[in-house]
Amino acid sequence: MTTLLADDLFRFYHVGDEETRALRGVSLHVQSGELVAIMGPSGSGKSTLLACLAGLDDPDGGHVEVSGQRLTRRPEAERARLRGRKVGVLLQAENLMPHLSVLENVLLPMRLAGTVDATFAQALLAQVGLSERHQHLPGQLSGGELARAGLAVALAAKPDLLLADEPTAEVDTGTEARLFEVLDAFRTRGGAVLISTHSPALAARADRVLHLKDGILNG
Ligand code: ADP
Ligand code: MG
Repeated sequence: MTTLLADDLFRFYHVGDEETRALRGVSLHVQSGELVAIMGPSGSGKSTLLACLAGLDDPDGGHVEVSGQRLTRRPEAERARLRGRKVGVLLQAENLMPHLSVLENVLLPMRLAGTVDATFAQALLAQVGLSERHQHLPGQLSGGELARAGLAVALAAKPDLLLADEPTAEVDTGTEARLFEVLDAFRTRGGAVLISTHSPALAARADRVLHLKDGILNG
């Protein structure tokens, strides 16, 4: 089953007279249970692509479908509703609400999706190794713990698709190994994963590695 489909995505940025062609005709698909890695140098368009795939940004051309539903060219509120139910997003920063505890952060996406499951929240925190820290505020966590908490939040609403932007960029190898285990469990349940990364260890675990350069994707 195709969970994520992107067809011929274009995204241009304009600052003054400067035009940056961040995405130039990117097409890709991720199947249920599959892990696809996107590698590419800084500035190649990885974050732009993930934002378009998550419906956080609308591309200037092309379309995105998640679990058979079109995400692009819809009002922001509709995109947000679809994302809340179907897509877990792990960005490079600001995945957690600073004034909520780790547990409350994990419960929040469940509340928004209308299906609070406290047992699943605790199970996710155990998977990422943060059971003991569930009452802590994000500001009290280390970088590796923040990355793990962010993954628990992204998976809380049981999405079909996880999109992660360089999730292992600044974490130790122990944390990276833990993230792999959680991703494997998610994929076993049929989850599809697309990750931008510079990590050879992560790319080695992927079913497929795609290379992005100057907004153009090469398989
Ligand atoms: P990556 O994540 O691979 O480093 P980005 O998607 O962040 O790449 O950026 C792709 C290109 O688009 C870069 O040249 C970057 O400078 C430019 N860019 C990204 N976001 C914006 C923006 N909001 N306004 C203008 N240019 C941007
Ligand atoms: Mg980036």
